[in-house]
Amino acid sequence: MYKIVDDEYLRCMYDRILIPTDGSECADEAVTHALDLATQYDADVHVLSVVDARDVSHGAPAISPAQVESTLRENAHEVTDAVADRAADTEVDVTPAVEAGIPDDSIVTYAEEHDIDLIVMGTHGRTGLERYLLGSVTERTVRRSSVPVLTVRTDTDAT
Ligand code: ATP
Ligand code: MN
Repeated sequence: MYKIVDDEYLRCMYDRILIPTDGSECADEAVTHALDLATQYDADVHVLSVVDARDVSHGAPAISPAQVESTLRENAHEVTDAVADRAADTEVDVTPAVEAGIPDDSIVTYAEEHDIDLIVMGTHGRTGLERYLLGSVTERTVRRSSVPVLTVRTDTDAT
């Protein structure tokens, strides 16, 4: 996509932005940044929540894996819908997606398959310890992604 700035056509670096989210406070902070960038760049946003396949297979013995997966899927849909709701007040076009897999695998593959040119995500998520510099999903995504990854922290993150 091209944008006219001072009578010149400049190529926009960011046409499609991916927000991977687990619904955490930190991911919500990433949403704020991603929606602002998408507005500035006139970019589309994809929101992906991954149902972690390891959570499904390690569920409590009394609950069937299918039940665990359907509860996690429901939650993932709520999380992506919440982002779409936040974007409703903006001009940004949001595509929600829910997939089952290993989160960083799914995020990197999704970005490749959908021609994403920027990933915006939290430094931390729901499950980790804040004393670690980065959550494991973010660390692996940063290591493996061929497109830039913008990481966003919250005030409460460890310094
Ligand atoms: P850990 O999971 O390593 O115990 P953590 O939960 O604090 O630690 P991450 O899971 O890496 O940290 O979360 C960091 C960011 O990664 C989140 O803010 C979110 O953007 C993204 N993320 C985490 N889990 C998922 C998921 N299942 N699907 C999509 N995005 C996710
Ligand atoms: Mn996590």
